[in-house]
Amino acid sequence: MTKLEKLIKNRIQETGPISIAAYMSECLLHPELGYYTQKNVLGSRGDFITSPEISQMFGEILGLCLAQYWIDLNRPARFALVEFGPGTGTLMLDILRAGSSVKGFVEAAEIFLVEASSKLKSEQQNKLSKFDVNWINDNLLIPQMPTLFIANEFFDALPVKQYQKENDLWYEIQVGIKNDQLELGLSHEHKTHPELETRFRDCVTGDIVEISEDATRISKSIGQIINNEGGCAIIIDYGDWHSLGSTLQALKSHKYTQIFDQPGEVDLTCHVDFESLARNSGCAYSRLTTQGVFLERLGISDRANQLLENSQPEHQHSIISAHKRLTHPDEMGTLFKVLGLYPSDKNSPAGLLK
Ligand code: SAH
Repeated sequence: MTKLEKLIKNRIQETGPISIAAYMSECLLHPELGYYTQKNVLGSRGDFITSPEISQMFGEILGLCLAQYWIDLNRPARFALVEFGPGTGTLMLDILRAGSSVKGFVEAAEIFLVEASSKLKSEQQNKLSKFDVNWINDNLLIPQMPTLFIANEFFDALPVKQYQKENDLWYEIQVGIKNDQLELGLSHEHKTHPELETRFRDCVTGDIVEISEDATRISKSIGQIINNEGGCAIIIDYGDWHSLGSTLQALKSHKYTQIFDQPGEVDLTCHVDFESLARNSGCAYSRLTTQGVFLERLGISDRANQLLENSQPEHQHSIISAHKRLTHPDEMGTLFKVLGLYPSDKNSPAGLLK
């Protein structure tokens, strides 16, 4: 039993079953024993590999997309560039390198990173040491100026609560203990939640709905800044427009495992409910677009060909396979989606349609 499992069981024994969100928070972000706070989670030797870690092309394309948005804003002399959950800092580094080909873009950027893990913060510090970087909380207290947000595989890491519809009432799915083992069960009393009201009619008995209060709060803050100051957000993650059913999953060493397997040692994520992010932001939002289509629209194939022309034969295979991994429907091209948020009187970011 991991130390964290013991702590969680003690908590449940003292105060009763806890929400899945509370379980996820403990597992992912416990200051000493949490998954993101103690482990090398990313990369081929970690538990999962993300698009920016697969290839520089991903961050370069996003960098140029953001730089184009800055040009469309009439090149403000100062703007905030905010990344949520920057991991090892690779994406921001690639954004800034590609963005430096657009005169004035990097110089105008004030960089803000939202990161909960002090271990990853220090990796970001090392990787981005040439830049002036600020770390902030997800309450987004930043100076008032046009703001460009980016988030890749951040929202899937936010805790969710799960509710199940039974006999025309909602009950919460909670984590309790049976025979000394963690297990899921329904709350004794029925529950209400403002976000459940809109889901009542499209659900039948037995359906499960997931709600991320953190995602709602953060998308509201993003939307307020975009509407008041100008700017946009590009959110990339796996998930769909409308979520239904439990999407909670656990991953260790690139393989799926059980959600109660070694708490704190495995990654726990949920599919992102993009409709909820879009509507809660209060901004205009783009059509939800697959990652493959988005990257192709912005020229990833041209970039791959350019890299191929300038590379040694032994590197060519990895460029071709990275391009395929990022864009092909059987790989990350379809499962991953891209959502743009922007003010209603402005255009959507490049690569995303209104
Ligand atoms: N965007 C990176 C990393 C994705 S992993 C990439 O594409 O490679 C998820 C990232 O979100 C990690 O940096 C993790 O520490 C951070 N994170 C997870 N939950 C968070 C929270 N509640 N607040 C801030 N950062 C969080």
